Amino acid sequence: MNIQKSKSLFERAQNSIPGGVNSPVRAFKSVGGNPIFIQRAKGAYLYDEDGNRYIDYIASWGPMILGHAYEPVVKAIQQKATESTSFGAPTELEVDMAELIKGMVPNVDLIRMVSSGTEACMSAVRLARGFTGRNKIIKFEGCYHGHADSFLVKAGSGVATFNIQTVPGVTAGVANDTLTAPYNDLQAVEALVAAHPTEIAAVIIEPVAGNMGCILPEPGFLEGLRQICTDNNIILIFDEVMTGFRLAPGGAQERLQIDADLVTYGKVIGAGMPVGAFGGRSEIMQHIAPLGSVYQAGTLSGNPLAMVAGFTLLSELHNNPSIYQELDEKTIYLKAGLINAFDASGFPYVINQLGSMISVHFSEQPVKDFASASAATNTLFNKFFHAMLNRGIYLPPSAFESWFLNNALTYEDLDLTILAVNESLLEIQQ
Ligand code: PLP
Repeated sequence: MNIQKSKSLFERAQNSIPGGVNSPVRAFKSVGGNPIFIQRAKGAYLYDEDGNRYIDYIASWGPMILGHAYEPVVKAIQQKATESTSFGAPTELEVDMAELIKGMVPNVDLIRMVSSGTEACMSAVRLARGFTGRNKIIKFEGCYHGHADSFLVKAGSGVATFNIQTVPGVTAGVANDTLTAPYNDLQAVEALVAAHPTEIAAVIIEPVAGNMGCILPEPGFLEGLRQICTDNNIILIFDEVMTGFRLAPGGAQERLQIDADLVTYGKVIGAGMPVGAFGGRSEIMQHIAPLGSVYQAGTLSGNPLAMVAGFTLLSELHNNPSIYQELDEKTIYLKAGLINAFDASGFPYVINQLGSMISVHFSEQPVKDFASASAATNTLFNKFFHAMLNRGIYLPPSAFESWFLNNALTYEDLDLTILAVNESLLEIQQ
């Protein structure tokens, strides 16, 4: 595969952008090799600067659930742009968006729009602290909630990919207020709560983790967390930045039938535009300014282009829930193909999947937390990644990331992917 233009662009980029990229995992540092510079995308396909086509399993890290350049979204943005790209004043569209989200997520009474998943999680934690008058939070090892200081403690995604233990620039004071427990370990949470009975404001969790590969909550885990939080007046925050509007119209809350106190969104909610949101019961949300004194604001929050893109996509998902069935079936089809290929190869493997989130670990043990995800042979994943890329399949460039299916993928695309998996596993055996 010729990637000459990507190579020279990466060289050029490194002279003016740190590491040549605007977000670390894009640099391919852990898998090695040259990142691919994308020129455009349509449906399930990415096209790079050298004219190569890839079947996309990243979907911009989640947002493009119906594929790239989805016609109704593109048209809505084009039309909106002619009316100005920002006002910094309230609009009817923001009310429409909030009402639509409330219709999809029944336990959200009030929702505030922000511009990224990081902002959503950071603001939800501030609100939980303001509401409870407590300082500490519990997060789970390998979960990623964005790059705000409180979350860069035993974080997943790029922090795990680059094996960064403590992040310089995060003060000890902030880090000390973030307590961590292994994912799926209820006893560890109970012990933390017992040790800090009146200090914990919130437990924040990815209800299905996607930042150490895809990791599912074991039966009873989220139910147990819900109970612990209720019993101890702790705010349970579901970080649904990945799972929101992806696993079901009402996200993981609906799919797993568990209600959080606050929920955060990103990715799908903005259809690829910079959007995040946090919401929940009005009893808690009314503490946000200007109703209450927990301050939170944003010049571009509720931006008209971002809102119209998100509103158009969410409306499609709301009106056509069969999309979720289709996505599930496609993902299960891919999973079956992966299982056959891995069985034939003899490599040890674990495939975790829920809805349109799926990942592969080269592991003999079940992968149920960060320790087991880290114990997998990730050097093999890196080889597998490149073998797939050379065959035109664009997987996340790290074993610590979930793959996301989009509904523009055809069964022919899935068959091509499965063929590439078989060939790639043969290649890396040599
Ligand atoms: N929360 C989760 C679960 C995420 O996966 C991410 C990003 O990948 C974030 C929060 C941060 O979102 P953003 O990158 O939009 O700031």
